[in-house]
Parts: sequence; structure tokens; C-alpha cells
Amino acid sequence: MFRVGRTVAAVLLPVLIVAGARRQQAGDPRATVLVYDYARTPLQVLAHAESVAKRIFNSIGVETAWLQCPTSPDQESQFPDCRLPVDSPRLVLRLLPRKNVEREQLDPAISGFSMLPGDGGFGNVANALAHRVEELARGDEGRQGVILGYLMAHEVGHLLLGADNHSATLGLMRNSWGREELARAGLGVLNFAPWEARQIRTRLREGAFTELAKTDKKSGRF
Ligand SMILES: [Zn+2]
Repeated sequence: MFRVGRTVAAVLLPVLIVAGARRQQAGDPRATVLVYDYARTPLQVLAHAESVAKRIFNSIGVETAWLQCPTSPDQESQFPDCRLPVDSPRLVLRLLPRKNVEREQLDPAISGFSMLPGDGGFGNVANALAHRVEELARGDEGRQGVILGYLMAHEVGHLLLGADNHSATLGLMRNSWGREELARAGLGVLNFAPWEARQIRTRLREGAFTELAKTDKKSGRF
């Protein structure tokens, strides 16, 4: 789950960059994120957001691929890459429109949430509320892409870290971002904490999501 202060975001986010670009190394763990955009986000905003999220993970030694996937049955033939083998590690990110807040009885203040099982195990579906990002960006598509990218990394981070993993300290995994986090984001240094980065790499190397995929009977759209 994630919240961000509306006023500080407007002030501090316009110049966000993501630093820490790192050359990919052999042996880096990998994850594929299937993106289902039910909110019809502008293509350039989504591409920007994916590049931001990809670089955040790259900076902690995790290679991610973000695949656009179909949101209606008649589109499925156009997205063959989304039909991954059942034993592929895969994570799902849904971009949801405003109407889902009422339909799914969500707290209107949140900007995203992840679906994690109550037993403390892993889940594989994360959600970002696209209209909240739009509100924060106030019509600036560059800013919208950056905010969405950080939000996507935060929510996918929940999936990779397991249950109850908000950080009490400064960083990407704090449950709400205030002035300090946004200032760090503006400098390109908002990221996972070192222990979170280690845990994410370990989980992926252990194949946690391969096991999860084998037990997940769902396929196609999410
Ligand atoms: Zn959260």
C-alpha cells in the first residue's frame, strides 16, 4: 500500500531522475512483470514509468522485463509474449482506473496496493491506482511517468519482499512518502534499503516465484 502527500509531491517531483544506472551483470536475478493497463494510461507515460522502475531494480542488481499485456479477450492474440510458460517467474502489475476504488471498496487515499496472502507468503499481483498518479502529476506527463514508475517499483517491491514489509526508515518502501523521500527521489537516490535489495535478490535466486507460478492456476488476463 502506498500514500503520498499531495502538496509536497507537486512541489518536489518535477525534476525527478533515477540515478544509479548499472551495467547488467551475468548472474543477476531476473523477473518479468506483466503489465495490465485497465486505466488506459498514455503510452509515453507508461513507457517512461517502466523505464524508471526498470532502472530502480537495475540499481539493486535485478534485471526486470516489463511486458504490455491484453486487457480484453480480443486483444490476446496481439500479445503472444504474455503467454509465459506456467513455470516462469512472473509478477502482475495492474493499473486500475478510478471506478475500481468504489467497486473494490478501496481506501480512496491509497495510491497502490499489493495482493498478498494472509499466511505471510508471497503474492504475485500488485496494483497502482492510475488516477491518483494523474492527480499528483497535475497534467505534467513527465512527472506522471516518474511518479508512476516509483509507485510501480514500490508495489512490485511488496511482491518480491513478502508480507508486512513497509520500511520504518526513509526509502522506497516507506508506507507514505513525505518531503524527505520526495527530495531523495528528486536527487535520484530514493531506493530500496540495502537489506531489502539483498532479500529481493535472494528470493528471486531461490525461485520463490517459480514455485508460486506452478501453483497459480490463472492464465491470460488479470
Ligand atoms: Zn506499500
